[in-house]
Order: sequence, then structure tokens, then C-alpha cells
Amino acid sequence: MTNGKIIRLLVDDEPFDVRYGRLLVHERELDLRDGVLRRHVEWESPAGKIVQVDSTRLVSFTHRSAAAILYEVQPVDSALRVAIQSELIANEPAPPTSNDPRTAAMLESPLTSEDFSDRDTRVVLVHSTKRSKLLMAAAMDHTFEGPDGTVSAAECEPDIGRVTIGTDLLVGERLTMVKFLSYGWSSQRSLAAVRDQVIAAVAKAKYAGWDSLLEGQRAYLDDFWATADVELEGDTELQQAVRFALFHTLQAGSRAEQRAIPAKGLTGPGYDGHTFWDTERFVLPVLTYTAPDATRDALLWRHSTLDLARERARQLGLKGAAFPWRTIRGQECSGYWPAGTAAFHISANVADAVVRYQNAVDDEVFELEAGLEMLVETARLWHSLGHHDAVGSFRIDGVTGPDEYSAVADNNVFTNLLAQQNLLAAAEAVTRHPDEAAEFGAELEEAAAWRDAARDMVVPWDEALGVHPQSEGFTEHQVWDFANTKPDQYPLLLHFPYFDLYRKQVVKQADLVLALHWRGDAFTDEEKARDFAYYEPRDAFTDEEKARDFAYYEPLTVRDSSLSASTQAVMAAEVGHLELAYDYFGEAALMDLHDLEHNTRDGVHIASLAGSWLAAVAGFGGLRDHNGFLSFAPKLPARLERLAFGLRFRGRLLKVEARKAEATYTLTEGGPLEIAHYGDRIEVSRQKPVTRPILPTVPEEPAPTQPPGREPMARQPAARRRRRRRGRGETKAHT
Ligand code: BGC
Repeated sequence: MTNGKIIRLLVDDEPFDVRYGRLLVHERELDLRDGVLRRHVEWESPAGKIVQVDSTRLVSFTHRSAAAILYEVQPVDSALRVAIQSELIANEPAPPTSNDPRTAAMLESPLTSEDFSDRDTRVVLVHSTKRSKLLMAAAMDHTFEGPDGTVSAAECEPDIGRVTIGTDLLVGERLTMVKFLSYGWSSQRSLAAVRDQVIAAVAKAKYAGWDSLLEGQRAYLDDFWATADVELEGDTELQQAVRFALFHTLQAGSRAEQRAIPAKGLTGPGYDGHTFWDTERFVLPVLTYTAPDATRDALLWRHSTLDLARERARQLGLKGAAFPWRTIRGQECSGYWPAGTAAFHISANVADAVVRYQNAVDDEVFELEAGLEMLVETARLWHSLGHHDAVGSFRIDGVTGPDEYSAVADNNVFTNLLAQQNLLAAAEAVTRHPDEAAEFGAELEEAAAWRDAARDMVVPWDEALGVHPQSEGFTEHQVWDFANTKPDQYPLLLHFPYFDLYRKQVVKQADLVLALHWRGDAFTDEEKARDFAYYEPRDAFTDEEKARDFAYYEPLTVRDSSLSASTQAVMAAEVGHLELAYDYFGEAALMDLHDLEHNTRDGVHIASLAGSWLAAVAGFGGLRDHNGFLSFAPKLPARLERLAFGLRFRGRLLKVEARKAEATYTLTEGGPLEIAHYGDRIEVSRQKPVTRPILPTVPEEPAPTQPPGREPMARQPAARRRRRRRGRGETKAHT
């Protein structure tokens, strides 16, 4: 799209360019409270003139299509002649591409000019996309203040709009400019309509003025942080990282307004702007409890794509709706069968997000307008994709689970358990709303068949090893030759044929371990694992089966996807390996701040960032929400003194604060709420915060290891960690 960020500065006719001259000071600051990016620069031009430049940029949360930049220039030690060129540029040359399939396919000059105009300090460019013929308009307008004699001029061409502001500045004087931007697009409206829309939006932003945009931004974020802030005491870097992560998660979702939330949000071209299961599995669970309207909007977008998902299911000879693995507007954009079409679990993740949202918000309007239909159509998919075998078990064969280093396998545990939940939730919804369900042709008889399938769902079990294979046969495969895989051969997908990855035990990202988190209620012990009672909330701690499963998959999991660390953090914490959990938490939260995958230039990893909230809240807070019942089991790693977070749930605002020895639950809004603390039911009300002791963590086994070279970076200095381990050993010997 048209780039409106460009502002050029000329100092005594020399372009301000940090590759030349001397950069004396350069600071950039993302202010998470104000919601702005600030930059402060002092630069000496090759001719020896020193200039100070300050800019503040915001993309408004409250004005739906507006952004603005405050730009200030002042001389430092001698008078200067300055010119600011504020631009709109379309069809910028594409950055160089690489062979990494995760980056975007770059198109050269993808836009055709449809209209351009300038007037005073305003420029408007209208373009259409060459193939899909979407119309897109961008407008900029300006206010400025400088010494007498400051002048401005506007000009435009098909792909460039430019407003130039020039003046002479004495020491002590400054030139201040505010650039207001607005964007709009449509696949249906006329050119005039789209153009007028951006003209109106930029006029509104200019009329509101910089200060008011700033205030609106601040007020919006104050509200958000009052609900959603996660506080960590003991680790400043992670404290900052988790807030950065929340800020990005909010930016990706809060104004999506019934459009998809892409894997990179709107921060870069990676994955071609596509949306994956990342949204429903990682992003929406965060937004559901912190900014629930954003979840509703995202699910309404999925709902708006139902016809395409039905069509897809028909193409595949299936019933119901098959949501696409990757998409922009609802049609499947993945051309590769094993990693795309066969990843049917996306549909169960959508259903899970629907149920989670409905339980958390009690939104009957949504349920009747969208939720019910999505549950019914996804349940139909599972029922037609699976089958009852000769002994009456319900099997779902030939699917790809979350681990993309295995494909087209039978009875993937994660898929089956989520499908089971999907089938039961749909049956419940039909029973609750028989009349509305009848409109989709869903009768109680069909619901009974879904219940049967859920009851008979196969969950493979390896008797000899005492663990769950992630899919049937997985634990019998040859183990990948980790010892002879060199560090620079990761990610494996760029260095080995998928054919070889598929037939070995090597896990790209949490798969079975993901099931341990989201369907932890199905794993409490071996007996219960075969006797599902979905509607009965269960304890979610001290579970040997989970510990064994977790330990089995750790040495096989290479984390070639950023979607893995947060889940490993959650489960490491649950089974008692708190330091390992903390390391994974660090990796998820710092993914982009430290550019851990060396690809943040393609856009931030929204699922990993959202996952860092999950690592804190579901990992160290122990939050589980099985069928609308919230339970907690807080426990802190050595470095943290305190963890606090807030959750919106059925009109309440619940605050949870964990310290080393005890946890306090406080309700600041809404009526009394029953929750569980380490399995004990407690009632929290506004009059009565509840404090309970934290149960000691007993990690009997040492933490499992990872494939060589694939360990998460340790957040705890090694020496301290060794000491503590020794300390534990001594305690054991003495008792
Ligand atoms: C992961 C997928 C994810 C996609 C987009 C892939 O590398 O394996 O699970 O949906 O990236 O983030």
C-alpha cells in the first residue's frame, strides 16, 4: 500500500541521512502508555551543521483510519536553512526477497494509479490493485508552525504526493509540522466514494488536532492496561517484553473490525499477509479475557467466510465447513496438501475460540447470529471426516496436526481431542437452541450422532512407553539424527526434504504438548484419558501422565516455529519445571525484541507475542478455562517475586496476584464468581478478596533436555541455576 511514513529533511540543501555526516544522538522509544513511537536525533551534516530532529508517530486506536506524525526540527549551534518534504509514495521498490518460503512473494509495482490531486497542504492518491482490482486511497494533510516567512507547496504525480515546507531557522527557533494520514479501501465502492472517504477522514483527524489524537490514544490505552496489564516483579526486561507483546496483540486485533488478523498483524509482508490458526489458537484466547470485543469481531470475520468454508468442504467430499489453513478473505491459499488442506485442526480451533468467547462473555446475540452455526458446521465436518471402525471407535485418519514435520497421519491426539470438544459443544448448542439450530437443518438426532462420535473418539496410547504418541505410530518412527544435525541446519524445513522429516520422530512445534494444555482436562490420569467427561471441570495439576508426555516430547522438539515456546512454557510450568518454563517464556516474549529468528523485518510474530501472555497467565498463573470454569494454580520461578494479571470474565474484572507463598484473587467489577485455586473451589466477591497459600512445586524428575543446540536461552544465570540444583539435592539428602 501507499507509504505515508516518509518525511525527508534537507539541511542547507543536504539530505538528512544517517549514512553520511555524524550521528551524535539517536534514540527511539515505543511508549506503551501513550501509544506512540518517538524518535530523537542529533545529526551533524557533512558540512558541519548540527540539527535536532524529534518525531512522534501514532496510528490511532480511536480514529479508525487515521495516523499522524509530529515532526520538529531545530538548529543546535548555528542558523539553518531547512526544508521538510512530506510524502505519499506508491509502488515503492520491493525489498530483496529470499528463498525462505515464509517471506512474502514480492510483486513489482502492484498498484495502478486511478486518481491523484493536491490542494493547499493536502494530497490524495487513489490506486487499484492490478489483479484483484481493489480500490485503495491514501490522503495526507498538514499543519505547520515556523518563523515568519515559512512557506509550503504541494505537488503530485500518479505514484507520489509531496508537500514541501521551507524556512530559515535561527538558533532557538523551530519548525513544527504535523502530518495527518488516512487510508481507505474497498472491493465494491466507487472511486469517488473511496477518495471522499479518505478526504473526510484526514479532515476529521486534522480538525481533531494532534493533542486530541494523543489524548484519545492515551485514554484508550489507559482503559486497556487497567484490565490487561501483566506485572512481573524481578525481571525488568521480561516485564517490558510482555507489555510490548500485549501492545502488539492489541494493535493486531483491536481495530480488525471483522477482518482477519494475520500472522504478522499489519506489521510486515511475511506470510503474504495471510491468517492462520495462529489467530484462534494463540491470539483470541488472550483477547477474549482482555479485549473481548476484538475476539467477537475476529470470530464474526470467520463467520463471514462460512460459505467459502462450506464450498471447500464440498470440494473435498466432506460435509459442514472446512476453514482454510491460510487465507486473506476466506478461500484456501495454501497449495500444499499435507501442510495445508490436511491441517483440518484449524476448524476445531475456530470452534474452541467460539466456545471460549461465549463462555467468557455470555453473548447470546453472537451465539445465535454466528456461534451456533459455526459449531454446527464444524461438527459436521468432523463427523464426515472421521468414521466408526469395526470395533466402534471413532477415527480421524489422514490429517496433519500442529507439528508440520509430520503429515497426513492417523488420529492426531490434538486434532481428535479438539474435534471431540467441538462435537460435544455443537451438540450442547443444538440442545440449547433447537429452533434456531433447525434453521441449519440440525436436529437432536444429528446432535446425538455427534455425541456418539465424541464418546468413541480414538486417543492413541503407547502402552510400552507409557506416553501418548502425537499420532498413531509416531513413537515407532526412527528418531531424527539430532547428533549429526549442525546448528546452521535449523530450521530443518530449509535444509532437509519434508519427505525425510515426515517419517522420523522430530517435532517442529508443540503438538501433543499443545493438547496437554488446551485439553488438559482429558489427561488427568490414564483411566480418565479413556473416559471423557468433558463437562466436568477437573483438577489440572500434579499429573504424572502429563509429566511423562512432556518429558518424552522435549528431546524431539526443535522449535522451528515461533508458535512452540509459549506452549512449552505453559506445560513445563504445569509439570513443575519452573526454570525451564521461564526460559521458554523469555523466548516467546523476546522473539521480536531480540529478533531471535532473524526475520522480524518480515513482521512481528503475533502468535508468539500473544503466547507470552499465555506463558505468564496460563503458565505461572496456571489459568485453565475448561467449559467456562476458571481455575488457577499459581507458582513462580526463582527470579519472579510477584506476578499479577487481570481477566475479564462474564461482566467481572478479576485480578490475580501471586507471590512466592500465596495468591490473592480480587474482584473489582461484577458479582461474585466461583473459581478454583489448586482444585479447591473458592468464591470471590467485591467485598471479599481471597488469599490462599501456593502449594509447593515438586518436580521429582530433573527437567528434560532438548535436541542439542535447541535449548531455550537460559534466563537464569547458569551459576545460580547450578547452585540451586545442588541446593535441592542437599535438601533431599537431609530429609
Ligand atoms: C507454523 C504454523 C503457523 C504458521 C504461521 C508456521 O511456521 O508451523 O503453525 O500457523 O507458521 O505463523
